[in-house]
Amino acid sequence: MAMKQPHVVIFPFPLQGHMKPLLCLAELLCHAGLHVTYVNTHHNHHRLANRQALSTHFPTLHFESISDGLPEDDPRTLSSQLLIALKTSIRPHFRELLKTISLKAESNDALVPPPSCIVTDGLVTFAFDVAEELGLPILSYNVPCPRYLWTCLCLPKLIENGQLPFQGKNDDMNVEITGVPGMEGLLHRQDLPGFCRVKQADHPSLQFAINETQTLKRASALILDTVYELDAPCISHMALTFPKIYTLGPLHALLNSQIGDMSRGLASHGSLWKSDLNCMTWLNSQPSKSVIYVSFGTLVHLTRAQVIEFWYGLVNSGHPFLWVMRSDITSGDHQIPAELEKGTKERGYIVDWVSQEEVLAHKSVGGFLTHSGWNSTLESIVAGLPMICWPNLGDHYIISRTVCRQWKIGLQLNENCDRSNIESMVQTLMGPKREEIQSSMDAISKLARDSVAEGGSSHNNLEQLIEYIRNLQH
Ligand code: UDP
Repeated sequence: MAMKQPHVVIFPFPLQGHMKPLLCLAELLCHAGLHVTYVNTHHNHHRLANRQALSTHFPTLHFESISDGLPEDDPRTLSSQLLIALKTSIRPHFRELLKTISLKAESNDALVPPPSCIVTDGLVTFAFDVAEELGLPILSYNVPCPRYLWTCLCLPKLIENGQLPFQGKNDDMNVEITGVPGMEGLLHRQDLPGFCRVKQADHPSLQFAINETQTLKRASALILDTVYELDAPCISHMALTFPKIYTLGPLHALLNSQIGDMSRGLASHGSLWKSDLNCMTWLNSQPSKSVIYVSFGTLVHLTRAQVIEFWYGLVNSGHPFLWVMRSDITSGDHQIPAELEKGTKERGYIVDWVSQEEVLAHKSVGGFLTHSGWNSTLESIVAGLPMICWPNLGDHYIISRTVCRQWKIGLQLNENCDRSNIESMVQTLMGPKREEIQSSMDAISKLARDSVAEGGSSHNNLEQLIEYIRNLQH
Protein backbone atom coordinates (compact mmCIF):
# COMPACT_ATOMS: atom_id res chain seq x y z
CA MET A 1 0.00 0.00 0.00
CA ALA A 2 2.68 2.50 1.09
CA MET A 3 4.67 1.65 -2.07
CA LYS A 4 1.91 3.19 -4.21
CA GLN A 5 2.15 6.60 -2.55
CA PRO A 6 3.95 9.38 -4.43
CA HIS A 7 7.33 10.56 -3.23
CA VAL A 8 7.90 14.32 -3.04
CA VAL A 9 11.40 15.78 -2.63
CA ILE A 10 11.30 19.16 -0.89
CA PHE A 11 14.22 21.56 -0.94
CA PRO A 12 13.88 24.84 1.01
CA PHE A 13 16.17 27.81 0.64
CA PRO A 14 18.52 27.22 3.61
CA LEU A 15 17.27 30.00 5.90
CA GLN A 16 14.94 29.80 8.90
CA GLY A 17 12.04 31.75 7.36
CA HIS A 18 11.98 29.36 4.39
CA MET A 19 12.58 26.10 6.22
CA LYS A 20 9.65 26.24 8.61
CA PRO A 21 6.78 26.69 6.11
CA LEU A 22 8.23 24.03 3.81
CA LEU A 23 8.51 21.68 6.78
CA CYS A 24 4.82 22.36 7.52
CA LEU A 25 4.05 21.44 3.91
CA ALA A 26 6.15 18.26 4.24
CA GLU A 27 4.22 17.25 7.35
CA LEU A 28 0.87 17.91 5.68
CA LEU A 29 1.80 15.72 2.71
CA CYS A 30 3.03 12.95 5.04
CA HIS A 31 -0.17 13.23 7.05
CA ALA A 32 -2.00 12.40 3.82
CA GLY A 33 0.21 9.32 3.42
CA LEU A 34 2.70 10.63 0.84
CA HIS A 35 6.45 10.02 1.14
CA VAL A 36 8.49 13.17 1.55
CA THR A 37 12.24 13.64 1.53
CA TYR A 38 13.06 16.99 3.11
CA VAL A 39 16.53 18.12 2.07
CA ASN A 40 18.64 20.39 4.27
CA THR A 41 22.18 21.60 4.16
CA HIS A 42 24.36 19.66 6.67
CA HIS A 43 24.65 22.84 8.74
CA ASN A 44 20.87 23.27 9.16
CA HIS A 45 20.17 19.54 9.38
CA HIS A 46 22.11 19.28 12.65
CA ARG A 47 20.41 22.33 14.14
CA LEU A 48 16.81 21.53 13.19
CA ALA A 49 14.75 21.14 16.39
CA ASN A 50 12.58 18.06 16.91
CA ARG A 51 13.87 16.19 13.87
CA GLN A 52 13.74 12.83 15.66
CA ALA A 53 10.27 13.48 17.04
CA LEU A 54 9.04 14.43 13.57
CA SER A 55 10.39 11.22 12.04
CA THR A 56 8.58 9.25 14.73
CA HIS A 57 5.28 11.05 14.19
CA PHE A 58 5.54 10.83 10.41
CA PRO A 59 7.11 7.53 9.34
CA THR A 60 7.01 8.60 5.69
CA LEU A 61 9.03 11.77 6.38
CA HIS A 62 12.69 11.28 5.50
CA PHE A 63 15.49 13.75 6.13
CA GLU A 64 18.55 14.06 3.91
CA SER A 65 21.32 16.61 3.95
CA ILE A 66 23.94 17.91 1.54
CA SER A 67 26.97 20.18 1.85
CA ASP A 68 26.63 23.90 1.14
CA GLY A 69 30.37 24.16 0.53
CA LEU A 70 30.66 27.19 2.83
CA PRO A 71 33.38 27.47 5.48
CA GLU A 72 32.30 26.38 8.97
CA ASP A 73 32.40 29.95 10.33
CA ASP A 74 30.25 31.47 7.53
CA PRO A 75 27.24 33.25 9.12
CA ARG A 76 24.91 31.65 6.54
CA THR A 77 22.63 34.63 6.31
CA LEU A 78 21.08 36.08 3.14
CA SER A 79 24.28 37.01 1.30
CA SER A 80 25.91 36.79 -2.09
CA GLN A 81 28.09 33.94 -0.69
CA LEU A 82 24.98 31.90 0.00
CA LEU A 83 23.48 32.67 -3.42
CA ILE A 84 26.74 31.68 -5.12
CA ALA A 85 26.97 28.51 -2.99
CA LEU A 86 23.51 27.51 -4.19
CA LYS A 87 24.47 27.62 -7.83
CA THR A 88 27.97 26.20 -7.46
CA SER A 89 28.25 23.76 -4.52
CA ILE A 90 24.69 22.89 -3.59
CA ARG A 91 23.44 22.31 -7.13
CA PRO A 92 25.70 19.30 -7.96
CA HIS A 93 25.14 17.78 -4.50
CA PHE A 94 21.38 18.05 -4.92
CA ARG A 95 21.57 16.43 -8.35
CA GLU A 96 23.65 13.56 -6.95
CA LEU A 97 21.28 13.11 -4.04
CA LEU A 98 18.29 12.80 -6.38
CA LYS A 99 20.13 10.17 -8.39
CA THR A 100 21.03 8.23 -5.23
CA ILE A 101 17.41 8.34 -4.01
CA SER A 102 16.20 7.06 -7.39
CA LEU A 103 18.79 4.27 -7.45
CA LYS A 104 17.86 3.16 -3.93
CA ALA A 105 14.21 3.02 -4.96
CA GLU A 106 15.03 0.56 -7.73
CA SER A 107 16.20 -2.17 -5.38
CA ASN A 108 13.72 -5.02 -4.73
CA ASP A 109 13.31 -4.41 -1.01
CA ALA A 110 12.96 -0.60 -1.30
CA LEU A 111 10.20 0.81 0.89
CA VAL A 112 10.32 4.26 -0.63
CA PRO A 113 9.36 4.76 -4.30
CA PRO A 114 11.41 6.93 -6.68
CA PRO A 115 10.72 10.68 -6.58
CA SER A 116 7.53 11.68 -8.38
CA CYS A 117 8.20 15.41 -8.24
CA ILE A 118 10.26 18.15 -6.63
CA VAL A 119 8.83 20.98 -4.57
CA THR A 120 11.40 23.70 -4.42
CA ASP A 121 11.63 27.09 -2.89
CA GLY A 122 11.16 29.94 -5.37
CA LEU A 123 14.67 31.14 -4.55
CA VAL A 124 16.25 27.77 -5.43
CA THR A 125 16.05 28.26 -9.16
CA PHE A 126 18.89 25.86 -10.04
CA ALA A 127 16.49 23.05 -9.12
CA PHE A 128 14.56 23.76 -12.33
CA ASP A 129 17.56 22.73 -14.47
CA VAL A 130 18.16 19.64 -12.34
CA ALA A 131 14.49 18.60 -12.42
CA GLU A 132 14.27 19.10 -16.18
CA GLU A 133 17.49 17.14 -16.73
CA LEU A 134 16.15 14.24 -14.65
CA GLY A 135 12.67 14.45 -16.19
CA LEU A 136 10.93 15.28 -12.92
CA PRO A 137 7.99 17.70 -12.62
CA ILE A 138 8.78 20.68 -10.43
CA LEU A 139 6.38 22.65 -8.26
CA SER A 140 7.45 26.02 -6.95
CA TYR A 141 6.68 26.99 -3.38
CA ASN A 142 7.03 30.69 -2.71
CA VAL A 143 7.86 32.02 0.73
CA PRO A 144 7.54 35.79 0.05
CA CYS A 145 4.10 37.31 0.14
CA PRO A 146 2.29 36.72 -3.20
CA ARG A 147 1.85 40.45 -3.82
CA TYR A 148 5.62 40.81 -3.80
CA LEU A 149 6.09 37.84 -6.11
CA TRP A 150 3.49 39.26 -8.49
CA THR A 151 5.19 42.67 -8.43
CA CYS A 152 8.52 41.00 -9.27
CA LEU A 153 6.88 39.13 -12.15
CA CYS A 154 5.69 42.51 -13.46
CA LEU A 155 9.18 44.12 -13.33
CA PRO A 156 9.81 43.85 -17.10
CA LYS A 157 6.49 45.60 -17.73
CA LEU A 158 7.35 48.33 -15.21
CA ILE A 159 10.66 48.92 -16.99
CA GLU A 160 8.90 48.97 -20.35
CA ASN A 161 6.40 51.62 -19.24
CA GLY A 162 9.17 53.76 -17.73
CA GLN A 163 8.32 53.35 -14.03
CA LEU A 164 11.54 51.54 -13.25
CA PRO A 165 14.27 51.97 -12.29
CA PHE A 166 14.32 55.09 -10.08
CA GLN A 167 16.97 56.66 -7.92
CA GLY A 168 14.97 56.81 -4.72
CA LYS A 169 15.32 60.38 -3.55
CA ASN A 170 13.20 61.14 -0.48
CA ASP A 171 10.85 63.57 -2.21
CA ASP A 172 9.65 61.30 -4.99
CA MET A 173 9.28 58.02 -3.10
CA ASN A 174 5.52 58.60 -2.82
CA VAL A 175 4.96 58.30 -6.57
CA GLU A 176 2.33 55.66 -7.23
CA ILE A 177 3.37 52.59 -9.19
CA THR A 178 0.76 51.59 -11.74
CA GLY A 179 1.08 48.59 -13.99
CA VAL A 180 0.84 45.82 -11.37
CA PRO A 181 -2.72 44.61 -12.00
CA GLY A 182 -4.58 43.88 -8.79
CA MET A 183 -2.49 46.36 -6.79
CA GLU A 184 -4.08 49.55 -8.12
CA GLY A 185 -3.93 52.46 -5.68
CA LEU A 186 -1.77 50.55 -3.21
CA LEU A 187 1.77 50.42 -4.51
CA HIS A 188 4.27 53.28 -4.27
CA ARG A 189 7.97 53.56 -5.03
CA GLN A 190 8.84 53.26 -1.35
CA ASP A 191 7.18 49.81 -1.27
CA LEU A 192 9.50 48.35 -3.88
CA PRO A 193 12.65 46.46 -2.85
CA GLY A 194 16.16 47.94 -2.97
CA PHE A 195 17.08 46.41 -6.35
CA CYS A 196 14.53 48.72 -8.04
CA ARG A 197 16.41 51.80 -6.79
CA VAL A 198 19.20 51.73 -9.34
CA LYS A 199 20.41 53.97 -12.14
CA GLN A 200 19.81 51.76 -15.14
CA ALA A 201 17.52 48.92 -16.08
CA ASP A 202 20.47 46.70 -16.92
CA HIS A 203 21.84 46.94 -13.37
CA PRO A 204 22.97 43.41 -12.35
CA SER A 205 20.85 43.19 -9.17
CA LEU A 206 17.66 44.26 -10.98
CA GLN A 207 18.39 41.87 -13.85
CA PHE A 208 19.17 39.06 -11.38
CA ALA A 209 15.79 39.57 -9.65
CA ILE A 210 14.00 39.55 -13.02
CA ASN A 211 15.72 36.40 -14.27
CA GLU A 212 15.17 34.49 -11.04
CA THR A 213 11.47 35.35 -10.97
CA GLN A 214 10.89 34.60 -14.65
CA THR A 215 12.38 31.12 -14.08
CA LEU A 216 9.37 30.28 -11.93
CA LYS A 217 7.22 30.26 -15.06
CA ARG A 218 8.77 26.86 -15.82
CA ALA A 219 7.04 25.35 -12.76
CA SER A 220 4.18 22.96 -13.39
CA ALA A 221 2.37 24.47 -10.41
CA LEU A 222 2.77 27.29 -7.94
CA ILE A 223 2.16 26.86 -4.20
CA LEU A 224 1.54 30.02 -2.17
CA ASP A 225 1.43 30.47 1.58
CA THR A 226 -1.59 32.75 1.65
CA VAL A 227 -5.34 32.82 2.02
CA TYR A 228 -6.99 33.06 -1.40
CA GLU A 229 -9.64 35.49 -0.15
CA LEU A 230 -6.94 37.91 1.08
CA ASP A 231 -4.93 38.01 -2.13
CA ALA A 232 -7.59 37.22 -4.74
CA PRO A 233 -7.06 40.34 -6.93
CA CYS A 234 -3.38 39.47 -7.51
CA ILE A 235 -3.86 35.73 -7.72
CA SER A 236 -6.52 36.04 -10.40
CA HIS A 237 -3.95 37.88 -12.54
CA MET A 238 -1.17 35.43 -11.69
CA ALA A 239 -3.45 32.61 -12.82
CA LEU A 240 -3.05 33.89 -16.40
CA THR A 241 0.67 33.06 -16.16
CA PHE A 242 0.48 29.98 -13.92
CA PRO A 243 -2.32 27.61 -14.88
CA LYS A 244 -2.13 25.83 -11.51
CA ILE A 245 -1.94 27.84 -8.30
CA TYR A 246 -2.56 26.33 -4.89
CA THR A 247 -3.01 28.80 -2.01
CA LEU A 248 -2.47 26.84 1.19
CA GLY A 249 -2.00 29.50 3.83
CA PRO A 250 -1.45 30.10 6.58
CA LEU A 251 0.45 26.82 6.37
CA HIS A 252 1.23 26.59 10.08
CA ALA A 253 -2.47 27.00 10.86
CA LEU A 254 -3.43 24.45 8.20
CA LEU A 255 -1.01 22.02 9.81
CA ASN A 256 -2.35 22.71 13.29
CA SER A 257 -5.91 22.21 12.09
CA GLN A 258 -5.06 18.90 10.42
CA ILE A 259 -2.87 17.27 13.03
CA GLY A 260 -4.40 18.99 16.07
CA ASP A 261 -3.05 17.84 19.41
CA MET A 262 -0.16 16.03 17.82
CA SER A 263 1.35 19.38 16.79
CA ARG A 264 1.54 20.62 20.37
CA GLY A 265 4.32 18.23 21.26
CA LEU A 266 6.26 19.61 18.30
CA ALA A 267 5.69 23.28 19.14
CA SER A 268 9.10 24.59 18.13
CA HIS A 269 9.44 22.31 15.14
CA GLY A 270 11.26 23.83 12.21
CA SER A 271 13.38 26.04 14.49
CA LEU A 272 17.11 26.37 14.11
CA TRP A 273 17.48 27.96 17.57
CA LYS A 274 16.54 26.74 21.02
CA SER A 275 13.52 28.55 22.47
CA ASP A 276 13.64 30.29 25.85
CA LEU A 277 10.82 28.67 27.80
CA ASN A 278 11.17 30.89 30.88
CA CYS A 279 9.61 33.79 29.01
CA MET A 280 6.31 31.89 29.10
CA THR A 281 6.43 31.98 32.91
CA TRP A 282 7.15 35.72 32.74
CA LEU A 283 4.22 36.17 30.32
CA ASN A 284 1.96 34.27 32.74
CA SER A 285 2.69 36.92 35.36
CA GLN A 286 1.65 39.87 33.14
CA PRO A 287 -1.85 41.38 32.87
CA SER A 288 -4.05 40.34 29.98
CA LYS A 289 -3.22 42.00 26.60
CA SER A 290 -0.62 44.26 28.25
CA VAL A 291 2.62 43.04 26.61
CA ILE A 292 4.10 44.27 23.34
CA TYR A 293 6.06 41.45 21.70
CA VAL A 294 9.05 42.66 19.63
CA SER A 295 10.86 40.61 17.00
CA PHE A 296 12.65 41.57 13.79
CA GLY A 297 12.76 38.03 12.43
CA THR A 298 15.96 36.28 11.43
CA LEU A 299 17.60 38.43 8.76
CA VAL A 300 17.25 42.07 9.76
CA HIS A 301 20.31 43.76 11.27
CA LEU A 302 20.16 46.94 13.31
CA THR A 303 22.83 49.44 14.17
CA ARG A 304 23.60 49.89 17.86
CA ALA A 305 22.03 53.37 17.55
CA GLN A 306 18.76 51.83 16.26
CA VAL A 307 18.75 49.27 19.07
CA ILE A 308 19.09 52.09 21.58
CA GLU A 309 16.19 54.05 20.02
CA PHE A 310 13.91 50.98 20.20
CA TRP A 311 15.07 50.33 23.76
CA TYR A 312 14.21 53.86 24.91
CA GLY A 313 10.92 53.82 23.03
CA LEU A 314 9.84 50.53 24.60
CA VAL A 315 10.88 51.38 28.15
CA ASN A 316 9.35 54.86 27.95
CA SER A 317 6.06 53.53 26.56
CA GLY A 318 5.34 52.18 30.04
CA HIS A 319 4.11 48.85 28.63
CA PRO A 320 5.68 45.49 29.46
CA PHE A 321 7.70 44.20 26.51
CA LEU A 322 9.13 40.85 25.42
CA TRP A 323 11.96 41.44 22.95
CA VAL A 324 13.75 38.84 20.83
CA MET A 325 17.27 40.20 20.52
CA ARG A 326 19.17 37.68 18.39
CA SER A 327 22.87 37.49 19.17
CA ASP A 328 23.65 38.74 15.63
CA ILE A 329 20.99 41.47 15.47
CA THR A 330 23.65 44.15 15.73
CA SER A 331 27.38 44.23 15.29
CA GLY A 332 27.46 46.63 18.25
CA ASP A 333 27.29 45.34 21.83
CA HIS A 334 24.06 44.19 23.50
CA GLN A 335 24.92 45.90 26.77
CA ILE A 336 21.93 47.44 28.47
CA PRO A 337 22.31 51.25 28.65
CA ALA A 338 22.73 52.15 32.37
CA GLU A 339 19.88 54.66 32.30
CA LEU A 340 17.47 51.99 30.97
CA GLU A 341 18.45 49.28 33.44
CA LYS A 342 15.70 50.02 35.96
CA GLY A 343 12.92 50.33 33.35
CA THR A 344 14.03 47.17 31.55
CA LYS A 345 14.12 45.15 34.78
CA GLU A 346 10.70 46.43 35.79
CA ARG A 347 8.90 45.95 32.49
CA GLY A 348 11.08 44.13 29.99
CA TYR A 349 12.12 40.57 29.16
CA ILE A 350 14.85 40.07 26.57
CA VAL A 351 15.45 36.69 24.93
CA ASP A 352 17.54 35.13 22.15
CA TRP A 353 14.71 33.12 20.61
CA VAL A 354 11.16 32.15 21.52
CA SER A 355 8.54 29.79 20.21
CA GLN A 356 6.83 32.63 18.37
CA GLU A 357 3.54 30.93 17.62
CA GLU A 358 3.10 30.23 21.34
CA VAL A 359 4.05 33.76 22.36
CA LEU A 360 1.63 35.33 19.87
CA ALA A 361 -1.17 33.13 21.19
CA HIS A 362 -0.48 34.04 24.85
CA LYS A 363 -3.30 35.96 26.56
CA SER A 364 -0.90 38.59 28.00
CA VAL A 365 0.34 39.67 24.57
CA GLY A 366 -1.59 42.60 23.12
CA GLY A 367 0.53 43.75 20.18
CA PHE A 368 3.41 42.77 17.91
CA LEU A 369 6.20 45.14 16.85
CA THR A 370 7.45 43.35 13.76
CA HIS A 371 9.72 43.77 10.73
CA SER A 372 6.78 42.55 8.58
CA GLY A 373 8.26 39.25 7.45
CA TRP A 374 5.54 37.19 5.75
CA ASN A 375 5.69 34.29 8.24
CA SER A 376 5.46 36.64 11.20
CA THR A 377 2.58 38.53 9.58
CA LEU A 378 0.58 35.36 8.93
CA GLU A 379 1.31 34.13 12.46
CA SER A 380 0.09 37.44 13.88
CA ILE A 381 -3.08 37.28 11.76
CA VAL A 382 -3.86 33.75 12.95
CA ALA A 383 -3.33 34.88 16.57
CA GLY A 384 -5.51 37.97 15.89
CA LEU A 385 -2.79 40.31 17.14
CA PRO A 386 -2.55 43.93 15.91
CA MET A 387 0.89 44.96 14.62
CA ILE A 388 3.32 47.84 14.49
CA CYS A 389 5.24 47.40 11.26
CA TRP A 390 8.83 48.46 10.80
CA PRO A 391 9.67 47.16 7.29
CA ASN A 392 13.29 46.75 6.44
CA LEU A 393 13.97 44.77 3.25
CA GLY A 394 12.57 42.65 0.40
CA ASP A 395 8.83 41.99 0.68
CA HIS A 396 8.51 43.75 4.08
CA TYR A 397 7.49 47.08 2.50
CA ILE A 398 4.62 45.66 0.44
CA ILE A 399 3.45 43.58 3.40
CA SER A 400 3.53 46.57 5.72
CA ARG A 401 1.64 48.71 3.20
CA THR A 402 -1.06 46.03 2.86
CA VAL A 403 -1.30 45.44 6.63
CA CYS A 404 -1.54 49.12 7.53
CA ARG A 405 -3.36 50.74 4.58
CA GLN A 406 -5.52 48.02 3.10
CA TRP A 407 -6.35 45.55 5.87
CA LYS A 408 -5.99 48.22 8.62
CA ILE A 409 -4.67 45.71 11.13
CA GLY A 410 -1.49 47.58 12.02
CA LEU A 411 0.31 50.91 12.23
CA GLN A 412 3.40 51.74 10.22
CA LEU A 413 6.57 53.06 11.81
CA ASN A 414 8.77 55.23 9.65
CA GLU A 415 12.10 53.62 8.63
CA ASN A 416 14.03 56.44 10.33
CA CYS A 417 11.93 56.53 13.48
CA ASP A 418 13.35 57.62 16.80
CA ARG A 419 12.58 56.81 20.43
CA SER A 420 9.67 59.25 20.70
CA ASN A 421 7.98 57.86 17.53
CA ILE A 422 8.36 54.34 18.92
CA GLU A 423 7.06 55.28 22.35
CA SER A 424 3.96 57.00 20.99
CA MET A 425 3.28 54.25 18.43
CA VAL A 426 3.31 51.59 21.15
CA GLN A 427 1.04 53.70 23.34
CA THR A 428 -1.34 54.31 20.41
CA LEU A 429 -1.56 50.63 19.46
CA MET A 430 -2.01 49.48 23.04
CA GLY A 431 -4.39 52.38 23.86
CA PRO A 432 -6.73 54.56 21.79
CA LYS A 433 -6.38 52.71 18.46
CA ARG A 434 -6.62 49.21 19.96
CA GLU A 435 -10.36 48.67 19.53
CA GLU A 436 -10.55 49.93 15.95
CA ILE A 437 -7.55 47.88 14.77
CA GLN A 438 -8.63 44.84 16.73
CA SER A 439 -12.02 44.83 15.04
CA SER A 440 -10.41 44.84 11.54
CA MET A 441 -7.98 42.19 12.73
CA ASP A 442 -10.78 39.97 14.04
CA ALA A 443 -12.36 39.95 10.58
CA ILE A 444 -9.08 39.16 8.75
CA SER A 445 -8.13 36.58 11.35
CA LYS A 446 -11.48 34.84 10.92
CA LEU A 447 -10.95 34.69 7.15
CA ALA A 448 -7.58 33.03 7.72
CA ARG A 449 -8.87 30.56 10.28
CA ASP A 450 -11.92 29.70 8.15
CA SER A 451 -9.70 29.02 5.14
CA VAL A 452 -7.85 26.20 6.93
CA ALA A 453 -10.98 24.63 8.40
CA GLU A 454 -12.92 21.93 6.58
CA GLY A 455 -14.58 23.45 3.50
CA GLY A 456 -12.21 26.47 3.53
CA SER A 457 -10.16 27.47 0.49
CA SER A 458 -6.74 26.40 1.83
CA HIS A 459 -8.15 23.15 3.15
CA ASN A 460 -9.71 22.35 -0.24
CA ASN A 461 -6.62 23.43 -2.16
CA LEU A 462 -4.46 21.05 -0.13
CA GLU A 463 -6.73 18.18 -1.13
CA GLN A 464 -6.50 19.27 -4.76
CA LEU A 465 -2.72 19.59 -4.58
CA ILE A 466 -2.43 16.07 -3.19
CA GLU A 467 -4.68 14.80 -5.97
CA TYR A 468 -2.53 16.64 -8.52
CA ILE A 469 0.67 15.08 -7.14
CA ARG A 470 -0.89 11.61 -7.14
CA ASN A 471 -1.79 12.09 -10.81
CA LEU A 472 1.81 13.01 -11.67
CA GLN A 473 2.79 9.39 -11.08
CA HIS A 474 3.21 7.44 -14.26
N1 UDP B 1 10.70 33.05 14.90
C1 UDP B 1 10.64 32.25 16.01
N2 UDP B 1 11.19 32.71 17.16
C2 UDP B 1 11.77 33.92 17.28
C3 UDP B 1 11.81 34.75 16.13
C4 UDP B 1 11.27 34.29 14.95
O1 UDP B 1 10.11 31.13 15.97
O2 UDP B 1 12.24 34.25 18.37
C5 UDP B 1 10.15 32.53 13.63
C6 UDP B 1 8.82 33.15 13.33
O3 UDP B 1 7.79 32.45 13.99
C7 UDP B 1 8.75 33.04 11.82
C8 UDP B 1 10.21 33.09 11.39
O4 UDP B 1 11.00 32.89 12.56
O5 UDP B 1 8.17 31.81 11.44
C9 UDP B 1 10.62 34.42 10.78
O6 UDP B 1 10.11 34.49 9.49
P1 UDP B 1 9.67 35.86 8.81
O7 UDP B 1 9.19 35.55 7.44
O8 UDP B 1 8.72 36.58 9.68
O9 UDP B 1 10.95 36.72 8.77
P2 UDP B 1 12.43 36.49 8.19
O10 UDP B 1 13.20 36.06 9.34
O11 UDP B 1 12.39 35.46 7.11
O12 UDP B 1 12.78 37.82 7.69
